[in-house]
Amino acid sequence: MDNHSIKVNYCSTGKVKPKSDELEFGRIFTDHMFIMDYSDSLGWHDARIIPYQPLLIDPSAMVFHYGQSVFEGLKAYHTPEGDAQLFRPKKNLERINRSNDRLCIPELDEEFALHAIKQLVGIDKDWIPKADGTSLYIRPFIISTEAYLGVAPSRHYQFIVILSPVGAYYKEGINPVKIAVENKYVRTVAGGTGEAKTGGNYAASLKAQELVANSGYAQVLWLDGVEREYIEEVGSMNVFFKINGEIVTPALNGSILKGVTRDSVIELLKHWDIPVVERKISMQELYDAHENGSLEEAFGAGTAAVISPIGQLTWNGDHIIINNAETGSVSKKLYDTLTGIQYGKQEDPFGWIEKVKAVSKVK
Ligand SMILES: *Cc1c(COP(=O)(O)O)cnc(C)c1O
Repeated sequence: MDNHSIKVNYCSTGKVKPKSDELEFGRIFTDHMFIMDYSDSLGWHDARIIPYQPLLIDPSAMVFHYGQSVFEGLKAYHTPEGDAQLFRPKKNLERINRSNDRLCIPELDEEFALHAIKQLVGIDKDWIPKADGTSLYIRPFIISTEAYLGVAPSRHYQFIVILSPVGAYYKEGINPVKIAVENKYVRTVAGGTGEAKTGGNYAASLKAQELVANSGYAQVLWLDGVEREYIEEVGSMNVFFKINGEIVTPALNGSILKGVTRDSVIELLKHWDIPVVERKISMQELYDAHENGSLEEAFGAGTAAVISPIGQLTWNGDHIIINNAETGSVSKKLYDTLTGIQYGKQEDPFGWIEKVKAVSKVK
């Protein structure tokens, strides 16, 4: 197939767009979606943009039974000049291919997938909300669609991209949250699928999350699955600590997801000459740092919240209050800089931004 040809079938009448202040996360979808099929004989083929609609899938499709699927999450932002732009989308496409490899899903052509995402966002550009902190969430995903109950890699897949206008994560300003350290359940283990962005990791995380949500905690802090000692992630975000002036984040160990935000935080800190290290860090070390007064800040980092300060960590009944449960200066500076670049309000010295051209609907 011509690598850059995507058939487009526009919807006849667009849906009514929601008001910016009524937006939640992931409940409303735009007018169009991208879809492309894979079969062993044809490879990836039949790339098309069509009106947003339900899928017709056989109940025996492998994705329903054995969870062979991957996904990504990134955003399109509206700039003060009226442009639409993406933040480091190539990183997401590199990652979906790493996830594909782990899940035995055929590789995507990253350049073509980026082209498809840009064309889809360009067509639904008017769906990017404009109010402060709002954005258009982009959800690319791949499902295994072969109608077969045998346990083996599927021979058929669909790569789909859907778009959802989302509200501001922080409606009343960036706010520290309470986190419970999880001692019983683990998200994943090294050698498992933790490094892949796959639905099963999320299914495995729900129980722990639900148990602590009732007691007022926003998320759990995940520890390693072998020793239950070393810190891995917070909820579905990567985690950072400021100890004695130095920023520490758990080193990638085979179960931690390599976040694009994590990577961007590390690059920004280096750019500012703030010391940053990736290494193993145990819960005991963190507790001791708190006791001796050297634990200065803690925060999660991910696409949805960008930076989420941690005000309290509860571990075996001890409440560790961090920075008076206030947002720390490094957390704040990272949040302001990352969102400044994403929304085109600040210089992008790293080349992280990719512009999206509006696509006019010629039928
Ligand atoms: C997606 C994800 C993150 C954050 O990654 P970003 O690329 O920064 O959005 C962190 N941890 C887990 C488990 C994730 O699934």
